[in-house]
Amino acid sequence: RSRLDPEQIREDFPIFRRILPNGKPLTYLDSAATSQKPNAVIDAMDTYYRGLNANIHRGVHTLAEEATEAYEGARARIGRFIGAKKAREIIFTRNTTESINLVAQSWGRRNLSAGDVVILTEMEHHSNLVPWQILAAEKELRLEFVPITEDGRFNMEQYQALLGLNPKLVGFSHMSNVLGSIQPAREIIALAHQAGAIVLVDGAQSVPHLPVDVAELDTDFLAFSGHKMCGPTGIGVLYGKEALLESMPPFLGGGDMIKKVTLQGFTANSLPHKFEAGTPAIAEVIGLGAAVDYLSGLGMEAVAAYEQELARYGIEQLEKVDGLRLLGPNADHKGSVFAFTLGDIHPHDVAQLLDQSGIAVRAGHHCAMPLHQKLNIPASTRASLYIYNSKNEIDRLVESLQSVKKVFG
Ligand code: PMP
Repeated sequence: RSRLDPEQIREDFPIFRRILPNGKPLTYLDSAATSQKPNAVIDAMDTYYRGLNANIHRGVHTLAEEATEAYEGARARIGRFIGAKKAREIIFTRNTTESINLVAQSWGRRNLSAGDVVILTEMEHHSNLVPWQILAAEKELRLEFVPITEDGRFNMEQYQALLGLNPKLVGFSHMSNVLGSIQPAREIIALAHQAGAIVLVDGAQSVPHLPVDVAELDTDFLAFSGHKMCGPTGIGVLYGKEALLESMPPFLGGGDMIKKVTLQGFTANSLPHKFEAGTPAIAEVIGLGAAVDYLSGLGMEAVAAYEQELARYGIEQLEKVDGLRLLGPNADHKGSVFAFTLGDIHPHDVAQLLDQSGIAVRAGHHCAMPLHQKLNIPASTRASLYIYNSKNEIDRLVESLQSVKKVFG
């Protein structure tokens, strides 16, 4: 596939026609928080609401059938996008956070007991820490953490030592939302399996940016969010191996997740419905279906190659800014996420001044407080790029950072 052209891609995203109140065009460098949405996604949701809105699954009327078909069709395409063998292995949730909570509360509650070891890493997003902390407190589990290397990567040696504790589960973020580090997932998963552990991959940052194939990775679970991959908010995915999902008890109870209910009890529905209680986010599922079609049209290999180019260029240019400390590894192991500190200037001040130039970045702990504690900084500024960003925008960021430094003397 040919190289991505960000200028052409921007044409598909109506938000880039926006002029900010201060008269500046939008330089959107906050895609790790949420991505922008192409017309294809907005139109798919609009078409659904205008033409076939109905509740799914139980209806016999035409609209209900069409809506069900659109919803289940999206599930099948989303499954193929990540290499799942069967659509029933795709569970719709609200987001990555809910997907991880589902694994903790359903699989974890059923399979873990006092003294069991769960291995996570020091760079996890709070959404892959707190659900395990909640369960650990209830079940007296032992949580262990793979340290990061000096340059912000997954420490494979220390991981191998931790595997000696016979963990029941290994959970890690495939791509860090702060360091940008891309973990060698296949190797981590194979080692976990050798040690007899189940694996949960947090794919919130990897699925939007890299080709991710669950069969090739052989992961047991993969969690990701629609809104970071050109799709709408309110829709996330949990992929799970069929046999594992079959063995798990329901997470939420209610309509749709049952086969039969009496006043005394219920029989759970078959997959994937067992885990989809209540009316789902129908329009959002259809929107996410359009998003994976859009990304597939670009080709995920091409997406990854282009972002690798941006990562290289970004590191090169940002390192020229005096006093800037870039977090995370070099471009061989990194996506186009640039979290940094700039001398003693508070990250919120940096972000606010960049905003005056129309540059949208994020400042704070990025839901990774333990990682920032480890790095000995209270917060960082983060610029995160996607398919519609260009090298020009990196130049604009660097220029504006030079001005920020002038303001602060
Ligand atoms: N994990 C990682 C690595 C993330 O970057 C994020 C989003 N910032 C999440 C999990 C949580 O995603 P969501 O808020 O969509 O549940």
